[in-house]
Amino acid sequence: MKQDIKSMLLPELKEAFSELGEPSFRAGQVYTWLHRGIRSFDEMTNLPKDLRARLSEIYTLTVPAVERRQISAKDGTIKYLWRLGDGNCVETVLMRYRYGNSVCVSSQVGCRMGCKFCASTLGGLVRSLEPSEILDQVLFTGLDSGEPVSHIVLMGIGEPLDNYDNVLKFIRLVTSSEGLNLSMRHISLSTCGVVPGIWKLAEENLQLTLSISLHAPNDEIRSGIMPVNRAYDIAALLEACRDYFRITGRRISFEYAMIRDVNDSAENAAELASRLKGMAAHVNLIPLNNVEESPLKPSGRDRIAAFQRELEKRGVTATVRRSLGGDIDASCGQLRRKQILETN
Ligand code: SAH
Repeated sequence: MKQDIKSMLLPELKEAFSELGEPSFRAGQVYTWLHRGIRSFDEMTNLPKDLRARLSEIYTLTVPAVERRQISAKDGTIKYLWRLGDGNCVETVLMRYRYGNSVCVSSQVGCRMGCKFCASTLGGLVRSLEPSEILDQVLFTGLDSGEPVSHIVLMGIGEPLDNYDNVLKFIRLVTSSEGLNLSMRHISLSTCGVVPGIWKLAEENLQLTLSISLHAPNDEIRSGIMPVNRAYDIAALLEACRDYFRITGRRISFEYAMIRDVNDSAENAAELASRLKGMAAHVNLIPLNNVEESPLKPSGRDRIAAFQRELEKRGVTATVRRSLGGDIDASCGQLRRKQILETN
């Protein structure tokens, strides 16, 4: 079976090239081409022709195709639906902020976490993405849009910590100085709360931002909307978060989707504040995005503002997330879902 060349780190490529009898600088040249998003080995014009031919015999080169592209008329957010080599599709979103452009990447085709409010999990997990397929979302979004990419959020389709090794390798690739050389501090990884993955990540001691999809102040509510909570409850999750902070020194960000009459009362805010008290935490309140198949509805503006005030009053910093791309199905999983429903 052919090896996927873009999933290889530079030292791995150098080793493979030395086994092929090629000098180490050739590996460097190839790595540079790969991270520029070339579409075939023949584009590596500073390589001898026979080496290019040899590489294409030994390795596969992933090249995603734009299946759909939606551009928000409101804020310039661009949503891509990419078709992968095996026909599966994943979504990527380019968001423009004052500090730069951020790309939201998917880590899996589908998801097996089963959160009740999420469109990505409706058809279950199809498969995990390779490191190259996650990197491609960054490379080809940059190339297609013509926009430089400075920030990455792992908040697209899939649970990053359910694809731990490939996600970590992607992070190493995208931050490598011979590649895109992105700053580790410009990467956010979001998890629904896979506790063993959080422990593992803490040991890597990376300067990225860990974001926890908490969405509830107690186990009763959380288990009702997030099945993962039955395996790892809030106490276990927050314990892992405290350790994560102790080891890495990085403040944790908690996502809280505001769902009408489910988790948005003043009492819920008070309980949340008491659980997060003393933690170096920041709460991001997100108005729930409507998912057609779900009976859950977003909280009203006033409810969200009151919830935020309640948290702040109790010493927990909270912001309400500005929503981008509301006119282009930009919430994760929605575009892929649409594509599947339309083709069936
Ligand atoms: N699996 C990871 C990352 C992907 S989801 C995780 O759960 O964190 C990115 C964020 O969007 C998560 O916080 C998720 O809970 C949230 N999300 C999913 N569906 C949503 C919806 N309909 N409205 C608002 N946020 C949603």
